[in-house]
Amino acid sequence: MKMKTLKGAEVSAKIKEQVTQMMEGLEGPAPKLAIVRVGEKPDDMSYERGAVKKMENFGLRVRTYVFPEQISDSDFKAEFSAINRDPDVSGILLLRPLPKQIAETDIEKMIDPEKDLDGISPANIAKVFAGDKTGFAPCTAEAVIEVLKANEIDMTGKNVTIVGRSMVVGRPLSMLMLKENATVTICHTRTMDLEAECRRAEILVAAAGKAKMLDGRHVGQDAIVIDVGINVDENGKLCGDVDFQSIESMASMATPVPGGVGAVTTAVLAKHLVLAGQRQRRN
Ligand code: NDP
Repeated sequence: MKMKTLKGAEVSAKIKEQVTQMMEGLEGPAPKLAIVRVGEKPDDMSYERGAVKKMENFGLRVRTYVFPEQISDSDFKAEFSAINRDPDVSGILLLRPLPKQIAETDIEKMIDPEKDLDGISPANIAKVFAGDKTGFAPCTAEAVIEVLKANEIDMTGKNVTIVGRSMVVGRPLSMLMLKENATVTICHTRTMDLEAECRRAEILVAAAGKAKMLDGRHVGQDAIVIDVGINVDENGKLCGDVDFQSIESMASMATPVPGGVGAVTTAVLAKHLVLAGQRQRRN
């Protein structure tokens, strides 16, 4: 059987249809996203470009707030607090990690949970862990679920292995997968037999951030492979955590990098923005 490539653009287009419908019922100007960036990190700037493009493509408003790398903790908190309180801002995307002098955990506690589109506040994290869908989950974790659902892949009772336990991807995704009734295994650097844990997965999610670390040996027959990793290979080219070519004879379906989960993450961000806009206008 030939491996099917699960394209992020197709999933993003489906989310765009939902967003357009949601916006039809929304009066007044389109919801506005505030992207908050400190410094000029290339990774942040590339994510920001993708997010700006997606918001514009979906007919949403977006403004980027950029602060110097050296900004003090108190100055940044004052600036962030003003954005947080601005009634014209429906949602916030904070590019992280922040420079060391800024207490990131304070910002996580400060952000209005209703504007916290990427699920960094304790209130939203608690909701994700409680299986309460009224919270905002981290966009990348939710993007994995969207990819599977858009391709009509039922997670009920499936053995799912997630490689990575970060608060951005692995941990929240494990909770979203549980909500979908999957049987979840989470792997990390202390996992004893990564190959075996991965190979028994019917759905394997790679979120370790290590270029091509998973290959054909880690993939069971007909498994579905979702590659969240965004890395640069030895030739300076963008690649995932999975060696795509080496899994072709094993996997039934897989997401490519680029062109997979990344494209869906910003679409989920747009959906969260419109949801936030809807809720704020009802209040
Ligand atoms: P982190 O570095 O925060 O976490 C990586 C996780 O992978 C850790 O839990 C780590 O284990 C585990 N890990 C690393 N190496 C190995 C290994 N050799 N074997 C087993 N486990 C391992 O990364 P993030 O979660 O922030 O991001 C993961 C990847 O996803 C990155 O490539 C990132 O660029 C990408 N990403 C993509 C997004 C998208 O939109 N597509 C958005 C966000 C991130 P331990 O806890 O033991 O250290």
